[in-house]
Amino acid sequence: MSKRDYYEILGVSKDASKDEIKKAFRQLARKYHPDVNKSPGAAEKFKEVKDAYEVLSNPEKKANYDQYGEADPNQGFGGQGFGGQGFGGSDFGGFGDIFDQIFNGGSRRRDPNAPRQGSDLQYEMSITFEEAAFGKTTEIRIPKEETCTTCHGTGAQPGTKPESCPHCHGTGQLNTEQNTPFGRIVNRRVCPYCHGTGKVVKSPCHTCGGNGRVKINKKIEVKIPAGIDDGQQIRLSGQGEAGVNGGPSGDLYIVFTVKPHKFYRRSGDNVFLEVPLSFAQVALGDEIEVPTLYGKVRLRIPAGTQTGTKFRLKGKGIKNVRGYGQGDEHVTVKVITPKHLSEEEKMLFRKLSSLSGGSANPENESIFDRMKKKVFKAD
Ligand SMILES: [Zn+2]
Ligand SMILES: [Zn+2]
Repeated sequence: MSKRDYYEILGVSKDASKDEIKKAFRQLARKYHPDVNKSPGAAEKFKEVKDAYEVLSNPEKKANYDQYGEADPNQGFGGQGFGGQGFGGSDFGGFGDIFDQIFNGGSRRRDPNAPRQGSDLQYEMSITFEEAAFGKTTEIRIPKEETCTTCHGTGAQPGTKPESCPHCHGTGQLNTEQNTPFGRIVNRRVCPYCHGTGKVVKSPCHTCGGNGRVKINKKIEVKIPAGIDDGQQIRLSGQGEAGVNGGPSGDLYIVFTVKPHKFYRRSGDNVFLEVPLSFAQVALGDEIEVPTLYGKVRLRIPAGTQTGTKFRLKGKGIKNVRGYGQGDEHVTVKVITPKHLSEEEKMLFRKLSSLSGGSANPENESIFDRMKKKVFKAD
């Protein structure tokens, strides 16, 4: 299996500074962290991003990678900056610190009992071209944590109260000392008995097992706004992860992926369509039916229409998502050259050719003459 380029994964150039690498990583980690991004494939992307950052953030590994295309696999990963045994149940071993910083804004010396806002969540939703154009109300199910309604988040069985943790004396943190070949390392880590809260529950709530939060598959109504485009997102305020210690909930971001349409293309609020017409239709003129998002409309094709000619159907495009008017539908004529002619058709074409090839015909010119004169319009 060939590995993707680490710089490419983080979307930075080879001469990106340490800060640029860190910034790119934070953005991507936020986007794909499995606690946040519930779309399929996010976990793999997250791992890729994490692997890339592990190497590019470490000067020695980065140098090795730049020179040999490999970070030295013998070089253990741990120690500086990445200590700690995960944080708050996050099972991305060794990355607790970084993620604590990313998601909680830095200081791990904060009061463990202070109210904290729940994490924002992201959900990628794939919708059809028409759903994007007209909007739709739909339902999704998001696996998330909510405050336990039995104990209201305390984790204690109703009628009892959480007590101060005897292991960390209510501080939520433990110091451990470790002797290593490089010297003594003092590791401050989250108290594993109370998970940093400084409190223990003697009689845990039966509903949440003392956690204060329960994992649920929450049904959420999503109103897809008419006119939304591929890659755009909406925010559902307060629909993210539940807050901790009475903090507010995070938000839920829905990112839309619009599936390509069979024959419409979209650019902004405009819709583009190519209609195949026969040589006879464009030569003689015709009135055709053209599909639009709002049903078929009749379109007059003047005699002598060239391939590539564009017609605009005003107001038949997509409603602007912010309410600024409506796009148009642009129809491009594409003349289809027949491939399988019957004997009779061949005969008629020969006849036509000999007619239009006569010296009296003003269009009797070589292809090069026509190109010079730009008989075929470029657009
Ligand atoms: Zn509970
Ligand atoms: Zn404790």
